[in-house]
Amino acid sequence: MNFGYREVCLDHDTGPRHPESPDRLRAVRRALKERHGVEYVAAGDVDLELVHGVHDPDYIAEFREFCDDGGGNWDADTVAVEATWDAAVASAGLAVWAAETAMDGVSARDTPFALGRPPGHHAVYDDAMGFCFINNAAVAAQAALERDADRVAIFDWDVHHGNGTQDIFYDRGDVFYASIHEDGLYPGTGAIDETGEGDGADTNLNVKYQPGADTADYLAAIDEAIAPAIADYDPDLLVVSAGFDAHEHDPISRMRVTTEGYGAMTQRMRTLAEDCNAGLSFVLEGGYGLDTLSDSVTTVHEVFDGYRPMEPDDDVSEDARDVLDEVAAQGFGSK
Ligand SMILES: [Zn+2]
Repeated sequence: MNFGYREVCLDHDTGPRHPESPDRLRAVRRALKERHGVEYVAAGDVDLELVHGVHDPDYIAEFREFCDDGGGNWDADTVAVEATWDAAVASAGLAVWAAETAMDGVSARDTPFALGRPPGHHAVYDDAMGFCFINNAAVAAQAALERDADRVAIFDWDVHHGNGTQDIFYDRGDVFYASIHEDGLYPGTGAIDETGEGDGADTNLNVKYQPGADTADYLAAIDEAIAPAIADYDPDLLVVSAGFDAHEHDPISRMRVTTEGYGAMTQRMRTLAEDCNAGLSFVLEGGYGLDTLSDSVTTVHEVFDGYRPMEPDDDVSEDARDVLDEVAAQGFGSK
């Protein structure tokens, strides 16, 4: 894969006990060092005009001023320092680079993955929250639309609901948002009956699973609901909001996705994008176990380097089956 990365993303200092630390990127890069076919690209800062396509310009100005004044606690969990602005515009720039590279058409081996921070999917139209300031995946989608995409799909496999991405595109028909997330976790949004409104009706798909969902449950959600819905939508670009905190050993969730499971999900996204004749790009979101994060990103990379991940042989749980029935009742799904 081609990884978008810039050192300035390490300068977003969240303090000594914050799970969203620069060590996350360091761990991923250390793991990728030993792998074949890894390239790094240092893309430029995001164009603020693009950011203003998905965020309130007044909020963005306020965020910039907050950093210029030295930063601090935006809220209890979301902290900034002076350098956070530079990291955020770099991180969003990497996501745009990934989207534009994917739109230009690249071989599978060169599939782009934006390895930036701060992450983005909790940032709503006019506010920062949940460690996120600029919604990187949303800006990436906006960039593709302003280039020559008619429709963009975002699939968010981070364990938390991407409330920000949903919020930004909830009434827009040009972006389809799909998420699998854990019930009971931050920020509490992402109910199954939140399916979009106005021009965005039926372009928002939430799979809210109970704690304990495993790889088989995640793959069933993709196979039965998310992939068919995205194929119907026929996007020109598929962006994966790739958080790795649903991993069975991640410290902050109770989901049980395996490292191999991230490979299997990646394989499905690759096939889905090919079937839609769409570009495919990845944007890093969460993932807080340094080993599980770096192993999982490495596995995503390996799928584009010829590795075929193993399929789980366990059955879909009854809890998951009930959720997928509810999702199907909203018009998404084959069951
Ligand atoms: Zn997360």
